[in-house]
Amino acid sequence: MAMCFGDDGWLSTARRVPSPNHDLRPDGLAVDLLVIHYISLPAGHFSGDMIERLFTNRIDPHAHPSFQGLEALKVSAHFLIRRHGELLQFVSGDARAWHAGVSHFLGRDRCNDFSIGIELEGNATRPFTSAQYRILARLTRALARRWPLRYVAGHSDIAPGRKEDPGPLFDWNRYEQMTVSCGLHRPFAADTRTNPQA
Ligand SMILES: [Zn+2]
Repeated sequence: MAMCFGDDGWLSTARRVPSPNHDLRPDGLAVDLLVIHYISLPAGHFSGDMIERLFTNRIDPHAHPSFQGLEALKVSAHFLIRRHGELLQFVSGDARAWHAGVSHFLGRDRCNDFSIGIELEGNATRPFTSAQYRILARLTRALARRWPLRYVAGHSDIAPGRKEDPGPLFDWNRYEQMTVSCGLHRPFAADTRTNPQA
């Protein structure tokens, strides 16, 4: 089944978990950047519903020692792709999700203003799954049909020194081969992430 966005910016084929952690995008800015992240909660655990709880302000700070303080975070992403390829949507693509934080891309700050954020359930030590790449590629193609995307970046590309995701195991070549028809450009060389080449 084709992935298709409605006029409201929600995907018909994703599981909807609406997050209150969003607001309006600034007027007049094109959504031209895709940002790839990873997340796991607790770190290194790939089960349960803690990520969706985090993005909807329902996390129990006593559920795990590492969760202390998380209940005060107001964060979200537009999408989450779980290990087996399940796709969740938290925020309409037309709205601003709160995924990038302090960030910088080709001379512009506040990447949330003009980007779509996709979280992959994962970490820096376990390879992402084939199901995740497959869904990510399909989602990228659907997004590129709906918004004027031109660029893709990792969170670490736009917040170097502060963020490490999607990490060394995200296979950029594989992803780029699967999405070549979208014409997205990642203006970061593998070893010079602080020096955009564009
Ligand atoms: Zn991130």
